[in-house]
Amino acid sequence: MKIIIRDDDANFFTKPRYIEMGYLNCFKHGIRISIGVTPLQEGFGGEVRTDIPKNLRSGQYFNVLKNKELCGYLRKLSGKGSEICLHGIFHNNKDARLSKEFIEKFDNSIEILEKISGKPVKTYIPPFNMVSRDILEFIRRKNMNISYKVNDNFHYLKLLYWNKFFLNWPHLNDGRKIFLVKNYIFGYRLSLKKNPKKCFEHALKEFDFYYRRNKPWVLANHYWDFFKGENGISPMIDYWNKFIDIIREKKGVEFVTFSDYNQK
Ligand SMILES: [Zn+2]
Repeated sequence: MKIIIRDDDANFFTKPRYIEMGYLNCFKHGIRISIGVTPLQEGFGGEVRTDIPKNLRSGQYFNVLKNKELCGYLRKLSGKGSEICLHGIFHNNKDARLSKEFIEKFDNSIEILEKISGKPVKTYIPPFNMVSRDILEFIRRKNMNISYKVNDNFHYLKLLYWNKFFLNWPHLNDGRKIFLVKNYIFGYRLSLKKNPKKCFEHALKEFDFYYRRNKPWVLANHYWDFFKGENGISPMIDYWNKFIDIIREKKGVEFVTFSDYNQK
């Protein structure tokens, strides 16, 4: 069974030590992850995005290359086999439609991330999981993978319809794929009553579902879900680490990234 661990939201404001703390246990055991990075993060906010300082939520864009510490850290992870993925361009509503600005900035965004990773960027992760048909077509033309969460059965049927009549997404035959995600299980915004133990139990159940069927599983996180405020580590991280320790011992479990999934 192949498992892809995906982390979203690294950007100009991200402190590398947060990613490191969230995945220390994975890295210790040689588990590589796929990291969604936003090249030109817009200063925006809400209670959820504790990573973006309140006084910088002015709609400006912040280029991730200016966070040298993060870029150096991501470069190291990439060198050890983790994957750098494109997580939107601005991480705002403009990323949901194929606007002029999106198209204009797309190639430059890939360049920014390739400067960081030193490798081709092959996977797109849409912010807020908002995907229009024209974005899907665009990403498919760029010959990239896409990974996102389908919110309900209606969206899933819509995707199947689009794919059958318009997209013809080449599932496995030319090595690019749509990787759907069901949930952010270790996340505080789920209906699991912000309860880390419940998240853990739910994750074990979900794991079991895919394990018994030997199906690939995308496990998506936000590194900031493992922390409370600036420095507080949340109990979520203990359950996350415990979960990783259980599943990495299971026979036949293999941790891969999106792009090396394609090569097999
Ligand atoms: Zn995001």
